[in-house]
Amino acid sequence: MSTNGVRPSATAHPGRAAPQPTVDTPRVTGLVRELLIALGEDPHREGLLDTPARVAAWWCSFLSPDPSAMATCFTETHASDQLVVVGGLNVWSLCEHHMLPMKLDAHVGYLADGTVLGLSKFGRIAQRYAGRLQMQERFTRQLADEVTTAIGSEDVAVTVHGVHLCMSMRGVRMEMARTSTVQAGGRFKTDPLLSQQFLTLSTAELRGAA
Ligand SMILES: [Zn+2]
Repeated sequence: MSTNGVRPSATAHPGRAAPQPTVDTPRVTGLVRELLIALGEDPHREGLLDTPARVAAWWCSFLSPDPSAMATCFTETHASDQLVVVGGLNVWSLCEHHMLPMKLDAHVGYLADGTVLGLSKFGRIAQRYAGRLQMQERFTRQLADEVTTAIGSEDVAVTVHGVHLCMSMRGVRMEMARTSTVQAGGRFKTDPLLSQQFLTLSTAELRGAA
């Protein structure tokens, strides 16, 4: 029924992945030591001795995503025009304005029209885009774009519910504040019933997880 061209067994374009920064671990270690000093701390006291190296190692692992995160598609001829919603994609990212953590809970919906995205890959795609200095709005769009490319169809919708520590522990200090973002393409934009079905399913899944 969908008029969008579906590419069976399509794979995401490896070239689409945004370039990853290279972490200069020794430099980060030195800078964290400097930061401790600038904050009035003594980096030689027992509890802080290994902190710079530990923080640098964390940055390195946070910014080095799993290289196997390329989406895999299966050809499934029986899956015609079926709404698939994958939820529970919980990832930690870092807000680029404050460099504070944000917890992002994503739901991806698409119409399985001949191509089914391997379920286990969604989490890895989400993790790859979370492992960088990020904005929730951009993360939502990147996730939608990657799935759109992988399945070769515009019929993709993504919702993300985010809890931002920059809102919870600084500024207005609203612990329960949540930010929700939606990116809808293809028929999710033009078909109100489909859009409603997706939002209902992703919200139900969210309530179930709470
Ligand atoms: Zn922030």
